[in-house]
Amino acid sequence: MQSKLLNNDDARKVLHKLIESYPDAHYYLNFKTDLDLMVAAIISAQTRDEVVNSVTPALFKRYKTINDYADSNEKELAVYIRKVSFSGNKAKNIIKTCKAVMDTHGGKIPKSMKDLTALPGIGRKTANTILINAYGIVEGIPVDTWVIKLSGRIGLSKSNNPEDIEQDLMQILERRYWKTIAYVLKSHGKAICQSQIPICSICMINKLCPRNGVTSSR
Ligand code: SF4
Repeated sequence: MQSKLLNNDDARKVLHKLIESYPDAHYYLNFKTDLDLMVAAIISAQTRDEVVNSVTPALFKRYKTINDYADSNEKELAVYIRKVSFSGNKAKNIIKTCKAVMDTHGGKIPKSMKDLTALPGIGRKTANTILINAYGIVEGIPVDTWVIKLSGRIGLSKSNNPEDIEQDLMQILERRYWKTIAYVLKSHGKAICQSQIPICSICMINKLCPRNGVTSSR
């Protein structure tokens, strides 16, 4: 079921209320270096954060440089990430991406959307994640499954396409909030607007949300 779209003023009010309600919202995967972050972001697709965070300590201890990954073989790397979904494919992608970083950027992870998204295995979501969290560069909004779900429920976007949703959110929200809004929406999804049964009765935006009280999980 598609929610009614909020007008821009109400959409902005709703997002400001959520930002105010989750002041500590932050990126959820553990990392120390830009390389760690890129790898964690690649393996996080369709995998819970807790699972990613449980495999990365041993992975980051074994693989410390781009070369370590580029020179690795898929089977060995897949063993380190076997608890995440599609570990074989992800191992292959990590190696391919790191080889491309070696070949085209001298082993340095690029700092622009254009260069990052030209790498195999890196889409806009991962590129935004790396730019924001490793370099403090804000070009857009990382759109993950929580952002997709809540943007539809709250009436912030009519689209299911991550790039359209990103554009819609960027139109609504001031640029200074772009770097945290994805983590704010995720925090709200985990705490109140839960995947199966949103707890609308205690929701701080229920007066404006078009989905207030509707029980469908979409
Ligand atoms: S919990 Fe209910 S009222 Fe709050 S954002 Fe989710 S669907 Fe809307």
